[in-house]
Amino acid sequence: MGKEDNKEKKKNRKKNSGLVHIKEIRGSKSLYGSMLWVTLFPLVLYGIVVTAYISYTLTKDVTTEARNNLRNEAYSVMEAYRNMYEGDYNVILYGKDIDFYKGNYQLTDNYDFIDKIHESTGLDISLFFLDTRLMTTIKDAEGNRFVKTGVSPAIVNDVVTNRKEMFYDNIIIGKEKYYSYYLPLYSEDGDTVLGMIGVAKPASEIEKMAHAAVIKNVLIMLAAMLVTAAIIMRFTSGIISVIKRIMKFTNEIADGDLSTELDAQVANRSDELGEMGRLITKLRGSLRRLIERDALTGIYNRRYAVNKLNEFKNDGIKFSVSIGDIDFFKKFNDSFGHECGDVVLKEVARVLRESMAPFGYAARWGGEEFLLIYENMELEAAGLTTQRVLDSIRALEVAYDGQIHSVTMSFGVAQSDKERSMDDDVNAADELLYKAKESGRNRVVY
Ligand code: GH3
Ligand code: MG
Ligand code: MG
Repeated sequence: MGKEDNKEKKKNRKKNSGLVHIKEIRGSKSLYGSMLWVTLFPLVLYGIVVTAYISYTLTKDVTTEARNNLRNEAYSVMEAYRNMYEGDYNVILYGKDIDFYKGNYQLTDNYDFIDKIHESTGLDISLFFLDTRLMTTIKDAEGNRFVKTGVSPAIVNDVVTNRKEMFYDNIIIGKEKYYSYYLPLYSEDGDTVLGMIGVAKPASEIEKMAHAAVIKNVLIMLAAMLVTAAIIMRFTSGIISVIKRIMKFTNEIADGDLSTELDAQVANRSDELGEMGRLITKLRGSLRRLIERDALTGIYNRRYAVNKLNEFKNDGIKFSVSIGDIDFFKKFNDSFGHECGDVVLKEVARVLRESMAPFGYAARWGGEEFLLIYENMELEAAGLTTQRVLDSIRALEVAYDGQIHSVTMSFGVAQSDKERSMDDDVNAADELLYKAKESGRNRVVY
């Protein structure tokens, strides 16, 4: 029957611990998820916004730089022509052909200058007379220069008519898109716009530069985000692991293992999780006291004593037990009241606990009976020690209601025997206690 009960209990315990275990896994997983969510989601959002903003400004910067570059080149070409050749720009028409002049110098014969600039800077230079491109470094697939071509009316309007230098990021020459800067060319007296200098760069090259800058930036951003994410994940899983260890500790206590210890790393934490662990340790202490101690006297109870003896039996540790019963205890209850009996029990328990401290354990076995447990002690020594314990009981003066009461006890002592059960060891002591009572009480029999 008892064995059946135990089996049933074990089953239930396993079931319960299984349930707790499933909860533990579910709980920790979703906590990990939500902790990551609240930290990583803003990080990713931040990354996207910052990347978009930086990409936008970088693209703008690259475009602005390209524009300044084109403008500077246009000015230096204009200056160079002004310094090299005196006079105004003009054209002479020969049927279909057009010769382009600056003063007396025929520019159309001399491509050296702008071709060199093109070679060294990669920029394309075009010279316009009014709205007609008469010289250019831009060539088609067959190597023919894009000369005698016009520009859009909008450019003519801006640069030639309204005399403004202009930057465009959408000029199509041939089939290619260019970023272009146009500078008006004035006559010597500065009154008339005779043409334009255009400096251009393929849009694809500028966009490639912008892309490279953006990609570099995005990669740096990504790397920073990955490092941050790794730190967050590591920190988060560290926290989760601490929570898991606290849960494991709590689970073991819930399963009835009151000797389990909280992981030292967790117990030493100075934060709330450490505090939580310490609170559960405190709770374990309270549970232990509730389970192991006798409510009236505060010394170990029968359950504790039985567990201890079973432990010794299982571990093959030798012991002696001494069972003691207060002589004529009923008279304290009957003559002075139940409360007086309680006071006597408490005082006797205190003396037993104090005198047994160096040798083993004192437990309340039931009513006015106590069990003394001597770990690793032979019968003879246990008997002599019990004798001294009895001396202390005899010396005890219990004060109650203005009166002093003295107490005696009878003890039976037995030594553990490998061949018999723990119950039989205690019964052997109990039989000797009976003998002690029969032979006049106030004595130790072993
Ligand atoms: P003996 O010398 O033969 O042991 O005589 P006794 O009077 O001590 O033995 P008995 O078994 O007749 O009486 C024990 C009494 O102890 C009976 C019971 O009412 C009382 N008792 C048991 N537990 C408590 C308790 O917790 N408080 C009080 N006040 N009395 C208790
Ligand atoms: Mg009794
Ligand atoms: Mg008694």
